[in-house]
Amino acid sequence: MKRIFDVSKKLLPKISKTEMIALQSGTTSLDRDIMSGIINTNIFNKLNNDLDNIYFSENLEDICSTLQNEYIFDGSINKKVIKKLNEHKAFSYIIPEEYDGLNFNVETQSRVLTKLASVNPGLAVTVMVPNSLGPGELLQHYGTDNQKKQYLPKLSTGEYIPCFGLTGPNNGSDAIGNIDQGILIEKDGQYFIRATIDKRYITLAPIANLFGIAINVTNPCNYLEDIVSEGVTVILLEKNKYNIKNNTYHNPMNVGFPNGTLKGTVDIELTDIIGGPKNIGNGWKMLMECLAAGRGVSLPASSLGGCLATTYGITGYSNLRKQFNIPLSKMMGIQERLHEMVYNTFLIENSIRLTNAILDSGEKPSVLSAIMKQQTTERGKKIIINGMDVHAGSGICKGPNNFVSKFYEAGPVGITVEGANILTRSLIIFGQGLNKSHPHISDIVLALQKDDFDDFDKNFKKMVSYTSKQFIKSTVTGILPTKDKTLQLSQNVILFSNLCNIISLMGGELKRDQKVSGLMADMFSQLYMGTSVLYNKKKYNLDSKLYDICLAELNNEFYHSFTELKPHLSFPLQNLVNISCRTPNKNIITKDDIKYTSTIIWNNRKVNKYIEDQIYAKDNILEKIKLANYEKNIEIKNKLIDDIISVGEFDTELELFPSSGR
Ligand SMILES: Cc1cc2nc3c(=O)[nH]c(=O)nc-3n(C[C@H](O)[C@H](O)[C@H](O)COP(=O)(O)OP(=O)(O)OC[C@H]3O[C@@H](n4cnc5c(N)ncnc54)[C@H](O)[C@@H]3O)c2cc1C
Repeated sequence: MKRIFDVSKKLLPKISKTEMIALQSGTTSLDRDIMSGIINTNIFNKLNNDLDNIYFSENLEDICSTLQNEYIFDGSINKKVIKKLNEHKAFSYIIPEEYDGLNFNVETQSRVLTKLASVNPGLAVTVMVPNSLGPGELLQHYGTDNQKKQYLPKLSTGEYIPCFGLTGPNNGSDAIGNIDQGILIEKDGQYFIRATIDKRYITLAPIANLFGIAINVTNPCNYLEDIVSEGVTVILLEKNKYNIKNNTYHNPMNVGFPNGTLKGTVDIELTDIIGGPKNIGNGWKMLMECLAAGRGVSLPASSLGGCLATTYGITGYSNLRKQFNIPLSKMMGIQERLHEMVYNTFLIENSIRLTNAILDSGEKPSVLSAIMKQQTTERGKKIIINGMDVHAGSGICKGPNNFVSKFYEAGPVGITVEGANILTRSLIIFGQGLNKSHPHISDIVLALQKDDFDDFDKNFKKMVSYTSKQFIKSTVTGILPTKDKTLQLSQNVILFSNLCNIISLMGGELKRDQKVSGLMADMFSQLYMGTSVLYNKKKYNLDSKLYDICLAELNNEFYHSFTELKPHLSFPLQNLVNISCRTPNKNIITKDDIKYTSTIIWNNRKVNKYIEDQIYAKDNILEKIKLANYEKNIEIKNKLIDDIISVGEFDTELELFPSSGR
């Protein structure tokens, strides 16, 4: 065993302190069940999706109806927007009631963001930032009592507008690699951090007056050694107190939300460190702990808003728009795209319902939140591109009837922020997942890190017994093909858990082989999405055939990822896979299935209402599409259609495109 211990130490990739913190942040949930070869439907009964109905049906309605045609930011902020948002305390969703906040649960926050995003993605981003990782959240968890009392009530009312700056020209995906530096200095008997701040891409920065920033603090003169360490530190800078310039802005894809830079050299009082001087060096841990859950909420919810609005609108538009004398929705080529849109939209929706319920049960599952961030924005991209293709000229030309292009423009923002998708898929979901979600690997890794032979010995034996069991289980699973999609999913989960054990033999090589870790991430995500379809079926039971087709498609995705993966494994690993993994079932998606899903939103009132409740379809083009779809009087219907298919026409005498805002 000692020899295995020594070899394992060599095989284990070097885990840096920052990676270790990331690995230890958050909890596990269904991700651990999936990696253990189980679909844990027992948990479903304990989960719920409670919603603050009053805010949703009254306050949010007012925000949407008042602001749906307003620009947000085009170099300066639209004051009407901020006023309306503050009237409904839209910046206080995560702040506790004792500090005058609304303290919403995750489900309510998420549904609010979805509806706002369906109106205007820029509006959702503006609301999202104060309600996710930033000063509000960091203060609650780590702030001193004084800081909480000083800032939280004013963040609730919108008197303070926050932003959070981590990124700079030299630190993007490698968030703290080349981050701004600060040095502990002494001036007139007082200690300060002298820092040069150069942040870019910071959302809300141009309108913020409370800047949360992360910098790397060093202490070359060893001041206050007994309380202060070094490293990433999170600080709050009030605009009124510090000379930080926020006077230049970026223009992310014309989405129209404030985003810009923070610059300046300042001497920062130690009392402005969140949590005080003892938190110098704790910043990365603080950020990772908050991101563990947060990443799974705001971006998925906003992506859903765009996807629901697009899928609802485009499926409805396809019934109305005729070419060659037939509606688009009757053409097989169009139906294929609509099918793909409906399928992916339901996956995003179902997975959000499940994840919100898990988060509301008190878990902070870091791997699931990474899956959610990547999957919902990546699948969202496919949905919107299909939507644009079907909307065609109407999607390309700006104007009040174009309800898709704004989502097309906003899509890349969600893909890039909070861990850009390529990085999240290639490194985090499976790379971190294997360490975090696997039932035994994290204990072994910890034992190796601590150089603790006894602990290693105990956990290694557990791993051997578990691995052998999963190997045998997988070998005898799926020998006979099955058409039962839920059974297919259960078999795929068993296969995956065995595959994880086999892939773990790659050790440090896995970190470099992003082809393998990317495909394993896809399979892991597909299984979680599949579990969410089961959850939604149990909870909302919208349409059995729809759920069945979604599972059939997902299981096909799993089949493709698995068959793509095998040739990329070394021969010994391929042999282990060949012995113990049966090729997953592949389903035929028939033309009838495609027709069924592509028309379900307008053929099934329950499904239609389920979607409509989540978006804003009043006094806008989506409402016209709805009215036209249900209108019986041909004359009225044709009039509505003439309006719906018309595109923006702008006077050539005008200097500005009206769509640019003002
Ligand atoms: C509109 C907008 C709003 C933002 N808001 C904020 C904010 O409020 N606060 C803040 O601090 N930051 C913010 N950001 C910054 C955002 O988090 C970064 O843009 C993001 O981290 C990616 O960094 P980058 O753009 O420099 O890309 P890069 O880091 O240069 O990455 C380029 C590409 O390489 C990939 N990549 C990088 N490393 C790896 C790897 N090891 N393996 C595989 N692929 C890899 C990435 O996935 C990406 O596709 C915002 C950015 C934008 C565009």
